[in-house]
Amino acid sequence: TVFEYAPAPESRSIVTLRSHYGLFVDGEFTDGGGTPLKTVNPATEEVLGEVAVGTDADVDRAVRAARKAFTRVWGPMRPADRGKYLFRIARLLQERAREFAVLETLDNGKPITESRDVDVPLAAAHFFYHAGWADKLEHAGLGPAPRPLGVAGQVIPWNFPLLMLAWKVAPALAAGNTVVLKPAETTPLTALLFAEVCQQADLPPGVVNIVTGAGDTGRAVVEHADVDKVAFTGSTEVGKQIARSVAGTRKSLTLELGGKAANIVFDDAPIDQAVEGVVRGIFFNQGHVCCAGSRLLVQESVHDELVASLQRRIGTLRVGDPLDKNTDVGAINSPEQLARIRELVGIGEAEGAQVWQPDGELPERGNWFKPTVFTDVTPAHRIARDEVFGPVLSVLTFRTPDEAVAKANNTTYGLSAGIWSEKGSRILAVADQLRAGVVWANTFNQFDPTSPFGGYKQSGYGREGGRTGLRAYLKES
Ligand code: NAD
Repeated sequence: TVFEYAPAPESRSIVTLRSHYGLFVDGEFTDGGGTPLKTVNPATEEVLGEVAVGTDADVDRAVRAARKAFTRVWGPMRPADRGKYLFRIARLLQERAREFAVLETLDNGKPITESRDVDVPLAAAHFFYHAGWADKLEHAGLGPAPRPLGVAGQVIPWNFPLLMLAWKVAPALAAGNTVVLKPAETTPLTALLFAEVCQQADLPPGVVNIVTGAGDTGRAVVEHADVDKVAFTGSTEVGKQIARSVAGTRKSLTLELGGKAANIVFDDAPIDQAVEGVVRGIFFNQGHVCCAGSRLLVQESVHDELVASLQRRIGTLRVGDPLDKNTDVGAINSPEQLARIRELVGIGEAEGAQVWQPDGELPERGNWFKPTVFTDVTPAHRIARDEVFGPVLSVLTFRTPDEAVAKANNTTYGLSAGIWSEKGSRILAVADQLRAGVVWANTFNQFDPTSPFGGYKQSGYGREGGRTGLRAYLKES
């Protein structure tokens, strides 16, 4: 397919690490005014490099560069020419795919097979897809002459660093906006490699600016008075703060926040297929997935059989070196995230749910957590309600489709859900009643740039991807 590229990016010698990484502002790498952060390989605790921290003044420089580029170059540019830049970026992502995959795995801890086969090809696919839109926006059904908003301030999390960047940058640029993006503090490296790609593609200076740093830098981006659009992906808690700070300004806002998805297995589902889907749903990317299938709702009559098969299958998962192609579950991204997972698992045990983990040793150094399954979970338990954002599955049961729907919707979130059944009519009927932005049937965690993604309730609002996602970067006309 178009998105194929050379296999076997398992060797870390593919990437050259630097001791210091700067901000990318107005087409150049510069230093930041803050005290630099260290970014660490979560599988080895090795420091990968020191990364500049953007202050309010640095963010202001970046926003001014983005404004200038919007007014003078990117805004007035022929849409077909903008599209060419996006195609060029997409091709460069493919050409440098092995480098991106290894760097992502080093910085994030995810298995190389995932960064190689999912994160990087999907990031390239997002640029290809949006490149195609650049000169066709007037045919998108979004008004006769859709116009860009201006400067987009974008803040992203650490679970899919390059992919979340692509979800944000590609539609913004295709619609004619310029960008100031703040990557997560624990995973800034692929965003900075992306900045090199922008240089390589001869993207005009200021069209994309990357300002690294932690929450304060993110806040400076969001609160900057000359930002026209704020796009945030991250925790519900920070999302609420951002919604409050944007309220009453002229900025438009989209939020992609947390989730507590139900994966619903009916008694007519093929058990082996469902087991694979449940495993993929919760252990993909160590469960650091906003739409992870973290609640398994299983029909009572097949509970014991399903849980037994699930445990057998989990026993075969390999946890360990993320650069090893045989690894299924990698490292937890940070000690802070590991502590959060441990705390919630401790609460689950204290509240009376039954915890199960497979045998086997974990590596001594680094941040690790075994794939974990809780049974005897009730809807009142914290592990049935709070987002763990780790490799932890909570199993609940139901008797009837109505009960399944009621339990699935019994959450403050509404990002995704899965249904496993042989009956098409049942799938359609249940999907219709689920309050979730995405419902997968007999599969899970499938993504495509043509499909809008986003949540209901406290999972946020607005959609990313597809024609609908473009709307967030265009003036309502
Ligand atoms: P987080 O909210 O702590 O951080 C996300 C980003 O926001 C980081 O870049 C961080 O530096 C920045 N930030 C922190 N405080 C800020 C502030 N006050 N103002 C502006 N920016 C600020 O979240 P996290 O721990 O990095 O990510 C995990 C969360 O993200 C989970 O809850 C997960 O569900 C969610 N998430 C959602 C989606 C989605 O598409 N809905 C995708 C991935 C992750």
